[in-house]
Amino acid sequence: MTVLTLRTLTGRPVQILVDQEIGSGAEGVVYPVADSPHVCAKLYSDFTRAAQLGPRMEALTGLSPVLWGGDCPEHLHVAWPRTTLRDHSGQLRGVVVPRIDGTPMLRLLDPGRRADLLDEATWRSTFAVAARVGRLFDMLHGAGVVIGDVSPSNVLVDRHGHVTLLDCDGVQFTDPQTGLLHRGEKFTPEYAAPEVLDGRPLSREHDLFGLGVMICELIMEGQHPFGGVSTAQPPSESVEQNIKHHNNRVTRPDRLVPSADALTAEILPGKILDLIRQCFEEGYERPERRPNGRAWAYELDQAAYQMMGCRYNPRHAYHRSSVACVWCARIVAGYGDHFPPPADWTMPLDAPVRGGLMLAPAPTTLSTYPAPPAPVNGREAAPPAVVPSRSSKQLRTIALIALIALIVLVIIVVAAL
Ligand SMILES: [Zn+2]
Repeated sequence: MTVLTLRTLTGRPVQILVDQEIGSGAEGVVYPVADSPHVCAKLYSDFTRAAQLGPRMEALTGLSPVLWGGDCPEHLHVAWPRTTLRDHSGQLRGVVVPRIDGTPMLRLLDPGRRADLLDEATWRSTFAVAARVGRLFDMLHGAGVVIGDVSPSNVLVDRHGHVTLLDCDGVQFTDPQTGLLHRGEKFTPEYAAPEVLDGRPLSREHDLFGLGVMICELIMEGQHPFGGVSTAQPPSESVEQNIKHHNNRVTRPDRLVPSADALTAEILPGKILDLIRQCFEEGYERPERRPNGRAWAYELDQAAYQMMGCRYNPRHAYHRSSVACVWCARIVAGYGDHFPPPADWTMPLDAPVRGGLMLAPAPTTLSTYPAPPAPVNGREAAPPAVVPSRSSKQLRTIALIALIALIVLVIIVVAAL
């Protein structure tokens, strides 16, 4: 075991297990810490860069947004750096950050793996995750923090769908002690606002553009709203160029070459489509018009509570504005099952198959569940799971058949006597 000992600002030694790498990024490598499973150490690869980061990291670790309760008091929503780490000469080498279990958000979009990563692997749960990301952005913006590097690889999701923001050392914030603005420097082009791609500084509104893109991606099964080849000549070659040229698949579908297997915006609830338009149309050139995290969270929560279950698959959930299960329709169209049922699930004999008739199964309503609770201090109650159940009409039919069978049996017995 190779151990590197560094010290916190107060002189406390921290033993870092540098032969057991947890992960790495553009700026450094993350290692376990010997005496605590709850934290890890991020060590910067570039010593010159680390020296420049000194004042920023001291100011950042002085803030304490780790105390934010978010939507689950037991869950840590922000992997905020706890303390800086210095070598024997006082040189900054890294930071101590919380160690959190979970999986990067984009992995949730793999239908084959989703059920292994989430307790409730349904479309409804992706809305719940998206709503939590909205609340997380709202909390950080309320504290004056600009995230800057908005990306689904910087959001970790646990089995219950709770989210944590990673890589917080690059955020933009003002030091309350000195009043000094520490600017964010990094951004991921695929989630950057058009004005930032044109060279303007990072801002809260830039975060909100990226939030809209991430939410679209989450609820549209990984389809990036600005992904694809443009219909214009010469065609755009990247997501970044499509953002610059205002080519997106949801509000301007004619500007991108159609993809046969793409999900269409019709499956989305109307209020969510309104927010997408507000973000990518009105808010494209007027950043102040982009919906904030709270607005997204409210409508996503509402939509999640308006989901219907499907009697063919307990993991199929679709919005009540659709006439039938959109995921069964995908199976019939030959695109496979986005939400494969549990292994022990017995599929009804009349379940839709590829190329078969798209039936309109009686939806199992969730309307008996209570309305979504209003957030209290930013916290929310756990939403109900999608549980398919027989409708009352079906139950009445079954009872009638049983009664007729009983009468016939009595007649046969009486006739035999
Ligand atoms: Zn279905």
